[in-house]
Amino acid sequence: MANLSLEAATKQYGDGDEGVLAVDELDLDIESGEFLVLVGPSGCGKSTTLRMVAGLETLSDGQITLDEEVINTRTPQERDIAMVFQSYALYPHMTVRENMSFGLEESTDLPDDEIEELVEDAAETLGITPLLDRKPGDLSGGQQQRVALGRAIVRDPKVFLLDEPLANLDAKLRAEMRTELQQLQDELDTTTIYVTHDQTEAMTMSDRIAVLDGGELQQVGTPMECYHEPANQFVAGFIGEPSMNFFSTTREGDTLVGEHFEYDLSEETLADIGDAEDVVLGIRPENVEVGDGLPGEHVFDGVVDVVQPQGYENTVHLRFASQDEDADTLTATIDGMRALQWGEEVDIRIPEDAIHLFDGVTGEALHNRVLETVEKVEQIGTA
Ligand code: ADP
Repeated sequence: MANLSLEAATKQYGDGDEGVLAVDELDLDIESGEFLVLVGPSGCGKSTTLRMVAGLETLSDGQITLDEEVINTRTPQERDIAMVFQSYALYPHMTVRENMSFGLEESTDLPDDEIEELVEDAAETLGITPLLDRKPGDLSGGQQQRVALGRAIVRDPKVFLLDEPLANLDAKLRAEMRTELQQLQDELDTTTIYVTHDQTEAMTMSDRIAVLDGGELQQVGTPMECYHEPANQFVAGFIGEPSMNFFSTTREGDTLVGEHFEYDLSEETLADIGDAEDVVLGIRPENVEVGDGLPGEHVFDGVVDVVQPQGYENTVHLRFASQDEDADTLTATIDGMRALQWGEEVDIRIPEDAIHLFDGVTGEALHNRVLETVEKVEQIGTA
């Protein structure tokens, strides 16, 4: 059991005009065994949060508890928490074995043979036994990353804190290590906070995602919740690649009037937006339909601007026909086998059951897409 709670955890660096409110009253409950990914753009307060949990930063306000005991008054060594850094922070003059045993020798009274056994067990779990007598300088980036993980695992801590641990690896290895880390965390069942600025890592690895912006928590939810039911426009734009398309509109009666289109809303959708007048309409690229002679409502004349083939799908940048060539484009993803040409005239359909609407002033979500189809897919997946 290791429940970790942050209660109004706050970090202010410096005072007055020079001061930075890096983390602002952050509330987070991480359940025992949970893999929580803390995600957000650079400078949003992710590392500061992790460092507060590890004990490398003091809190300006609030508290952190582990299994209901306040830990933010304890030294890092007294917290039973292990942190893995992006830079690996291995000692270059020590062998892998020495790097992995060093922490235990310093912080426990365990006899040497027990430490040796723990190191060998951890090395086996990570598949690095043949590397135990090598020095970090003789290892690849991926191997060094495994050793850094090994050093954390060997301590059998209550909580793992991982700060962008895969950031220095190339794309292919990063994808492999993502899977390995997930399997490892499943196996060890250790409560984990994983920090990244990469929304793909957040989506693919986490039990739940916590999205931060400007030191403030925007949303905590499963990857599916954050993707399909974003709490606000920031989360909607941050989670998902390519990003959601956004259009600023003004409501006139039952219609949203944008710069290049008018979009009629059904009674049901209208009920969700209350009396908001400035409304941002959002649609994910995979929900934009592109074709010739598309039937139904919410179809607009468009022009193909740029096509980026990805193999299994193509990312298409489109313009509304009324837009000039320098105007912002609308992104759609279409099947990779479909050919579209630059300058081709197409129909663009923005189906109402897939739109998101946000308050143009506060960014808060007023209406999220209809989830019926998504739920069906999930049920098939778990059947
Ligand atoms: P992230 O990990 O999300 O990139 P950080 O937690 O490192 O963000 O930083 C959050 C904010 O706090 C940033 O504005 C950063 O410049 C500031 N900051 C971080 N560390 C310090 C420090 N030691 N002194 C002053 N400001 C800091």
